[in-house]
Amino acid sequence: MFRLTVIAAASICFLSLAVFLGVRNAENSLAEALLPVVPAAIEHSNQVPILMFHKVNPDPRVGGLGLRVPPDKFDREMAYLHQNGFHTVSLTDVVEHYRTGKPLPARPVVITFDDGYRDNFTYAFPILKKYHFTATIFVVADTVGGINSFDVRAHLQPVNRMASWAELGQMAAAGITIGSHTLDHPHLAQIPPAEAWRQIRQSRMVLEKHLGRPVRVFSYPYGSFNSRVAQMVRDSGYLAAVTTVQGIAGPGSDPWLLKRVRIMGSYDLDKFAGELLRYYRVVHSPAHPAGGRAA
Ligand SMILES: [Zn+2]
Repeated sequence: MFRLTVIAAASICFLSLAVFLGVRNAENSLAEALLPVVPAAIEHSNQVPILMFHKVNPDPRVGGLGLRVPPDKFDREMAYLHQNGFHTVSLTDVVEHYRTGKPLPARPVVITFDDGYRDNFTYAFPILKKYHFTATIFVVADTVGGINSFDVRAHLQPVNRMASWAELGQMAAAGITIGSHTLDHPHLAQIPPAEAWRQIRQSRMVLEKHLGRPVRVFSYPYGSFNSRVAQMVRDSGYLAAVTTVQGIAGPGSDPWLLKRVRIMGSYDLDKFAGELLRYYRVVHSPAHPAGGRAA
């Protein structure tokens, strides 16, 4: 009788565990099923989303979730890209592809960080390495190793530490692209042309001198640009530049006015995926014209 009771109790435990695990699994697949499915058509769209990040940091004291993505969230977003077959590429790969037809891997995506915060090194870099991802960091040259004085002065953000030359050098050596975000983060469209020219040109020289490698990509601070400023960037030897205009890169994109997709720390994974996929346009191949019908 005792043996039977033990067997019955064990069976009940086992059944409960099986039911519990079954429910857990169902919940997980439900959560996955609710995420936007990446449409197969993007494979042939020849478009590249350029994601825009700033800080990756768990500490709310360094700023709100507009510019700050907590590291656990950033990790889940990178995992989503990885699981869905996205491959990270550099901006120069993208413009080269549109200029010469040089092939890109399947589902290309560019990951960018503006300003050059130290947390890019502390938190984002190890996560990028985990997925064998590359990225581009646009550095404010005169703030390297210091603080975000440009935002602190204007009372826009609390104090944040910026990456040091050694940290930038370590990331560059590991395949991260370092780009320029000017000397001290001015509104380029609002300052005298001679000063804009100095900010664009000298920042590149400072970065190249300290990093010992060419700097060929640029990001407009505050997204402030006009046609004159874009021409200066082009004339200063940069091969590509990114704005804060929302959109996706495609065959017709101006390499010095590339659009990006803003990723905020407040986004859940569903919203992240939605933003990632939001700007792809359906491209119909000539073999199957839109609305084409046999005559
Ligand atoms: Zn910036």
